[in-house]
Amino acid sequence: MAWDNIPRIHCFSLGDLHEFDRCFFSFFVKHHLGKKYEVAEGNMSQAVGCLLDLAIKKLHQIRAYNQSPQYLQTLIKAAEREMREDIEKRGKNSFYGAQLEFLTPEVVSRAQEIFKKYMQQIAGKFKKLLLTEISQKQKPFWQRVISSTQDLKLWGGPDAIEIGEDGVPEVVDYKYFEDLERGKGNLDMDLMPKVYILLCAEDLKKSGFSKARFKIRFWEDPLNEDFYEEFDLTNAPNLENYLKDKIERILRTTEVSFCERDYCRVCKHPQKAEWLKQLAALGLVEHKV
Ligand SMILES: [Zn+2]
Repeated sequence: MAWDNIPRIHCFSLGDLHEFDRCFFSFFVKHHLGKKYEVAEGNMSQAVGCLLDLAIKKLHQIRAYNQSPQYLQTLIKAAEREMREDIEKRGKNSFYGAQLEFLTPEVVSRAQEIFKKYMQQIAGKFKKLLLTEISQKQKPFWQRVISSTQDLKLWGGPDAIEIGEDGVPEVVDYKYFEDLERGKGNLDMDLMPKVYILLCAEDLKKSGFSKARFKIRFWEDPLNEDFYEEFDLTNAPNLENYLKDKIERILRTTEVSFCERDYCRVCKHPQKAEWLKQLAALGLVEHKV
């Protein structure tokens, strides 16, 4: 992915931006030192979410819109296989690595159950995949280079681009929450829509669209249509400037601080002092003893 010579430290995903807002030190270690997957911590609910999100990607990929519910259950099994294969191939660098210990038969059947209920509630009427140059790839991945003093890159992508009822493309992120109401309350409906729309803007424009809608679909509340934002794609340069400022501000931050929350795996990690030294040696943080 480094064909354009933009160093990884100048490449940002939505998760990286969220991590910076959560804990500076954790962000530095995960993003600047590249330990995102190594220190990731999984849980059952994330594993369920991963299975479901992969299953809907597969459904779109093979356009399994008119298949029986029994057939669609096999998509969850296929998702499980894909997660296991990725972990085998990439080891500690696998996006799914932290979920391995939670990938139990119970979690798989929980995901199957939720997938089935989702289908029943939408009466089998899945929104169809919008075919763009990128969305039809086997592993779609969007990126946008942002010109700055040094080039920056935004990368990642939504779970799908679907065709809305009115024909407007819907850039969709599917969400699963253990506690649905709490999850809805904590949703980032500011940065997330902007990042996903900017990532897909060129791809959608090339396909002839001038408008798009970012939308959240909840696995456990399929008929909920409340979480969305509409964008005029000709305004993409404004979004780009907004995110450029945010990323530049992050890259200018060299003063380290620690959230010290009990659940922060990085602040509480035994290698904390060592990582701090590494960051200081790279000139990425000021190390005050
Ligand atoms: Zn922390």
